[in-house]
Amino acid sequence: MRIDLHAHSNVSDGTETPADVMASAARAGLDVVALTDHDSTAGWAEAAVAAATCGVALMPGMEVSCRTEEGISVHLLSYLHDPNHPGLLEEITKAKDSRLSRAERMVTILAEDYPLTWDDVIHHVAPGATLGRPHIADALVAAGVVEDRSEAFASILTSRSRYFIPHYAPDPATAVELVRAAGGVPVFAHPVASARGRIVGERTYRDMIDAGLAGLEIDHRDNPEEGRDFLRKLAAEHDLLITGSSDYHGTGKPNLLGENLTLPDMLARIEALGTGAAVVRP
Ligand code: AMP
Ligand code: FE
Ligand code: FE
Ligand code: ZN
Repeated sequence: MRIDLHAHSNVSDGTETPADVMASAARAGLDVVALTDHDSTAGWAEAAVAAATCGVALMPGMEVSCRTEEGISVHLLSYLHDPNHPGLLEEITKAKDSRLSRAERMVTILAEDYPLTWDDVIHHVAPGATLGRPHIADALVAAGVVEDRSEAFASILTSRSRYFIPHYAPDPATAVELVRAAGGVPVFAHPVASARGRIVGERTYRDMIDAGLAGLEIDHRDNPEEGRDFLRKLAAEHDLLITGSSDYHGTGKPNLLGENLTLPDMLARIEALGTGAAVVRP
């Protein structure tokens, strides 16, 4: 069984439609793929229909943007939650709305130095999609300022850049509680991805575990090897499930579907815990 539990469509910052992500998953030889768009479940229905035609099972998921009180960004994967749970829906809606005004403000200051307009950015955003820095990156690529999204993130758009503005995001422990309340399975995404920005310390892990964290995404290209050892020990100590995934974004990132995989018994644990939605099998 080839299981990849982290992929994005153009419902957030991936470049393919949800149906095309399912088709790409079939071509990559996957048996199960999770659609985990940032702060949105709007792609689930389309992906569920495509699951049947592509012969790939869909794990319905989402990646919740969070931020600690020290300002450290945390991504929390949620699997099998009820997409209509009011508490969780309220938080992701606040984050989505804030992402819009934050992007507008970033474009305003970027436009002082680069040939960039708000229309150029919107051109790269599917209707209703969760807006992120990757869409601003696409506009900078189109303007010839950078070669690709990776170059944009390495310079102009990093969280350390003077153009960077954060958006509203719930505290990670609060998000874990909300995912659980919605019947979902909360898994800490790429926890030690230090190249993206600061990573959390022991206290945040403890708070998230106390709130009901279910698992850790260990095999992810952005987790350095030293950090993976630490995560394996933490998982063993607290009986957390562990996953491996690609974090596919279509052509928006070099990450390829199936480059990391999750073991079938971990999938079974997720399915046993999740009560707000079900895996869609072809
Ligand atoms: P935002 O959600 O607006 O804070 O932007 C963060 C998103 O940008 C993440 O979800 C990543 O998928 C994407 N991202 C981060 N680093 C890179 C990179 N080097 N190349 C392409 N996309 C990236
Ligand atoms: Fe992303
Ligand atoms: Fe992420
Ligand atoms: Zn992701």
